Amino acid sequence: MDYQGKNVLVLGLARSGAAVARLLNKHGARVVANDQKERESFGDVPDELGKLGIEVICGGHPEGIVSPNLDLLVKNPGIPYTAAPIQQALALGIPIVTEVEVAYQFAKAPIIGITGSNGKTTTTTLTGEILKAAGLNPVVAGNIGTALSEIVEEVRADQWLVAELSSFQLLGTDTFRPRIGALLNLYKAHLDYHGTMEEYIAAKSRLFRNQAENDVAVLNADQPAVMELANSLQGRIFPFSIRKRLEEGVFVKDESIIVRSSGQDVPVCRLNDIPIKGAHNLENVLAATAIAYSAGASPGSIREGIRGFKGVEHRLEFVAEKNGVTYYNDSKATNAEAATRAITSFSNPVVLIAGGLDRGTDFAELIPVFQKHVKAIVTLGQSADKLAAAAEKAGVLTRFKAGSIEEAVSIAANAAETGDSVLLSPACASWDMYSSFEERGRIFKDAVHTM
Ligand code: ADP
Repeated sequence: MDYQGKNVLVLGLARSGAAVARLLNKHGARVVANDQKERESFGDVPDELGKLGIEVICGGHPEGIVSPNLDLLVKNPGIPYTAAPIQQALALGIPIVTEVEVAYQFAKAPIIGITGSNGKTTTTTLTGEILKAAGLNPVVAGNIGTALSEIVEEVRADQWLVAELSSFQLLGTDTFRPRIGALLNLYKAHLDYHGTMEEYIAAKSRLFRNQAENDVAVLNADQPAVMELANSLQGRIFPFSIRKRLEEGVFVKDESIIVRSSGQDVPVCRLNDIPIKGAHNLENVLAATAIAYSAGASPGSIREGIRGFKGVEHRLEFVAEKNGVTYYNDSKATNAEAATRAITSFSNPVVLIAGGLDRGTDFAELIPVFQKHVKAIVTLGQSADKLAAAAEKAGVLTRFKAGSIEEAVSIAANAAETGDSVLLSPACASWDMYSSFEERGRIFKDAVHTM
């Protein structure tokens, strides 16, 4: 794509917006960057962009910012299509893309694109670790931290660019073509943004739309909604399953992970080689195995990568063992579904710390989970009483209420006995008490370590 002299509006100045504005400016585009937020909230970024010749407009979307002479609008993935400037651009027929589409056009390295409702960060990080162990020099980016536009030109053709992609990012792609694309799962998430499940699936499936015969599509063979896509894909399907043996793909047999390719079963590692807990993480490990194998990693290096993987911070993260009790931080569990995944990963009794922002749910789906796994619960935050009520219905007799994470840790430690696990898996967002799930998780870990 030749951007020389092209008029581009970048909407949204957060990290990926600033990165794509720089990239386009470097390639000769006339870039205007616009954000609703005030200039001060972006630190030095507006001044730095200004010095490069990028016009920065903050504090609203001025009348006429979307004009007929625009060649392209790059939209932050979080801005809905219903926003006024987007509607204007649509009416004028101006192409609208997201930052990953622009970055892709400058990529020299082959791309691995990983999406799904859940497990993206874990699978992307693990894939990076495996490819590193295999000496394949991966660079991990995307939704996960570094914007693709920030690093895309530095990644050489003999490396792999491993990208975590949200459906919001994928919606704004056009020519984006990953050499290996992975769709981990589809849950009824993000429906408020996408409208219907069909539209959500359509966004996710954009990952594969430009793939050709030699490309690979890694799919979750256990999810019919995912496998329905298989018929319409051009690339080679390389699925994974935790439930069944596959003619081709990655699955579990006799407590081992097997890669089956060209009619041969190749063992990769034993299930008890996997350091991260839970059935959902086994799915992530199988997906990463399928991806890494397709990228050329040997079974030995896949094993090495899996064995060395300690998980991602705040996702069922092992914190410490104290007095025979293990402590886990799952602060990322901001809804009941995620908390269920975490709690059911334990075969020993759990002392659960849960609660946070009240979104009006009654947590009824947690009752059977509490019944089976939870011996005591410490609730906190806005939703404390609702969670306590669910625990009472589940027959959890030991229930406490805490005013802070620190207090919750101390109560939980007293309630736990040798062999138990104390688990922070709030089933709620953190914003009633903390600025982010990361802050909540770090406070939990500090409290455990200083106990
Ligand atoms: P994402 O990046 O898609 O949000 P993460 O890897 O950060 O996913 O995991 C977030 C949470 O999603 C985890 O704490 C866990 O509760 C749940 N989860 C992770 N992997 C899976 C999976 N394969 N299937 C279902 N839920 C999962």
